[in-house]
Amino acid sequence: MPIQQLPDTLVNQIAAGEVVERPASVVKELVENALDAGATRVDIDLEEGGIRLVRIRDDGGGIPPHELPLAISRHATSKIASIEDLEEVATLGFRGEALPSIASVSRFAISARARGEGHGARLEVDGGRVGTPAPHPHPEGTTVEVRDLFFNVPARRKFLRAERTELGHVEEWLRSLALARPDVELRLSHNGRLSRHYKPVRDGGERLRRVAEALGEEFTRQCLEVEHAAAGLRLHGWVGLPTASRSSADQQYFYVNGRAVRDRTVAHAVRQAYADVLFHGRHPAFVLFLECDPRGVDVNVHPAKHEVRFREQRLVHEFIYRTLHAALASTRAGGALAQEA
Ligand code: ADP
Ligand code: MG
Repeated sequence: MPIQQLPDTLVNQIAAGEVVERPASVVKELVENALDAGATRVDIDLEEGGIRLVRIRDDGGGIPPHELPLAISRHATSKIASIEDLEEVATLGFRGEALPSIASVSRFAISARARGEGHGARLEVDGGRVGTPAPHPHPEGTTVEVRDLFFNVPARRKFLRAERTELGHVEEWLRSLALARPDVELRLSHNGRLSRHYKPVRDGGERLRRVAEALGEEFTRQCLEVEHAAAGLRLHGWVGLPTASRSSADQQYFYVNGRAVRDRTVAHAVRQAYADVLFHGRHPAFVLFLECDPRGVDVNVHPAKHEVRFREQRLVHEFIYRTLHAALASTRAGGALAQEA
């Protein structure tokens, strides 16, 4: 075959392979866009586990009609404009890839009204074929509808699981978000029935209520609050007491500058801090937020941004380990009991 330039739709479908795995990844990208737009309330409607429909409505800043085609264009973003911006990016998105990728593997529509504008507009994309924006009534904010995910990519569609399983992935992702953004009201409906409703929590002291809603009171009854800052780093949140340990690592939530991440350095530091208060094979439960200078952490490691790279890995490890070790010291008496038992 001669070398040839791939058409845009195919390029987007290839990129979708990295960003869109299942309905939960669509929900993640769309809700993150809503939050980046300053939404205080986000409604998520799913049909058939999100395979048939994912609809996300927000009350954020919206998009002016003439920008709708840009929103679904590849590498088009309102969040960064230079490499310097990328180095201290404060939004969840910045790659300008999610909407074109999702739109290339679904029947897609975006409707919006920009703040302060008199009317809204809607743009439809069918498996990558882009329509023209048309006037459309819409309150301030944005609605994105994604129907029939992977209808045109059978190889991907066959990896989708049963409705319940896909719904479970969405609920788990939403739980992780609910912990990080107690200020935002989040509603999830499935097949027309409300399945989750996280009400907004405004006062800092009420945050534990959101944690209880997300993880259950079993966790909040047996946790310690952590709050420590040093050397330009701040760690805060809640760590489960040894008595709240679990047989799997299913209640471990770690955020770096508000972004949920999985990181080996972090996981190792936490494990080490718990080493002498937990039985072998038991896993701690925790919800921890690390805040640091955005220039000290690279979030552009993978398109889905689950991973980060710390510039000063050793320092971060040491800080987390010491903070948690000190917090858990007060429980060590109880921990020792557990070990003797
Ligand atoms: P990114 O989030 O990396 O910028 P996306 O493809 O997810 O890329 O979105 C492209 C652009 O569309 C965003 O930069 C933003 O300007 C606009 N946009 C997308 N979703 C929303 C939304 N819910 N509210 C307001 N603007 C949005
Ligand atoms: Mg985005």
